[in-house]
Amino acid sequence: MIYFDNSATTQIHPEVIDAMKPYLVESFGNPSGKYYTLAEHAKVAVEKAREQIGKLFNCSPDEVVFTSGSTESNNLVLKGLADLHWGKPKRLITTSVEHPSILETAKYLQGKGVPVHFLSVDENGTIRLSELAAILEEYGDDVFLVSVVWGNNEIGTLNDLEEIAELCAKFKVLLHSDATQVAGKLPIDLQTTNIHFLSASAHKFHGPKGIGVCIIKKDEMGIRRKLTPLLHGGGQEFGYRSGTLAVHNIVGAGVAAEIARRDLQTIRQHLIQLEEYCKKRLLETFPHIVQFTVGDVKKIPGLLSVRFRGVNNELLIKKLAKHVAISTGSACSSSKPSHVLQQIGLSLDEVRSTVRLSFSRFNSFKQIDEFIALLNS
Ligand code: PMP
Repeated sequence: MIYFDNSATTQIHPEVIDAMKPYLVESFGNPSGKYYTLAEHAKVAVEKAREQIGKLFNCSPDEVVFTSGSTESNNLVLKGLADLHWGKPKRLITTSVEHPSILETAKYLQGKGVPVHFLSVDENGTIRLSELAAILEEYGDDVFLVSVVWGNNEIGTLNDLEEIAELCAKFKVLLHSDATQVAGKLPIDLQTTNIHFLSASAHKFHGPKGIGVCIIKKDEMGIRRKLTPLLHGGGQEFGYRSGTLAVHNIVGAGVAAEIARRDLQTIRQHLIQLEEYCKKRLLETFPHIVQFTVGDVKKIPGLLSVRFRGVNNELLIKKLAKHVAISTGSACSSSKPSHVLQQIGLSLDEVRSTVRLSFSRFNSFKQIDEFIALLNS
């Protein structure tokens, strides 16, 4: 099987599995337990993972909050902050091309009376700073959060979080970014970029599923930010997220983060080369029907959105399914065409002939040749 759907999830790295195993077998203690060795082992392992994640994002380990993944982290930030303003709701600013875990949460909050602005995007799916600036100019003090996806999961284009952060800082507004598709693929430096909240999932960078992080930066005085938890209980994770910690998954996330940081530049180069090679082979093999969704813009390496003119994407994916894993990029394109592709101006016909190829460190040039041969058969 040729696996080109790494934006959906990735193969777990063998080093990650090896690191996790002891915490499923012998070191099974509850890290919140007291005094006995098994608990101590688990606690040490969790704190090591917190440091490994902290290094990936260049933040302090005690700003790393373990969650079940980006869906939960996104919900936590949006609902947790909105909850601080019940009775006198403040405004949320987000974009029209977010992942459903932001879009649906924003719509839910809207239904509860929170005013929400969905920023429009240009033909590359990135926001216009001028539009954000105009809204902040008008509502400044009244905005409780700006939430902007860092890298788009369907077309791979990047928002300029440095510039967005500067703008939010100017208006003293909190900023969250869903960095799920960028974490482990591009450098993220939360010391130099003034982002207050960040979401990521370990399974997107060769870690296990069901574990992610919400980075919650402390304020300028070093004090923890107020945020109503989604899960109340034993007060784990600095009170932000109760529940017994999934030690094996946390250890896996930590090691995956360490490997991603260690190999960042080589993986990045490999992904760029795979993408370039795939583009070249597609263009020379199908010159009249192939079109790439975005041009030469800043994007996530190895994520390629491509249109085969006149070919239905669902039928193509089904035809290849025994040998190749690719996707339309959205959950179910036949009944609900991709909102991202529509937002950037594609017609319904164009949306229905677009597929997403997403590569990983485990893919090869030979697999691209095999994929092209299968397309041609
Ligand atoms: N945000 C983005 C941009 C994503 O691509 C995904 C996963 N497709 C998520 C959030 C949700 O991640 P998870 O399913 O791991 O919670």
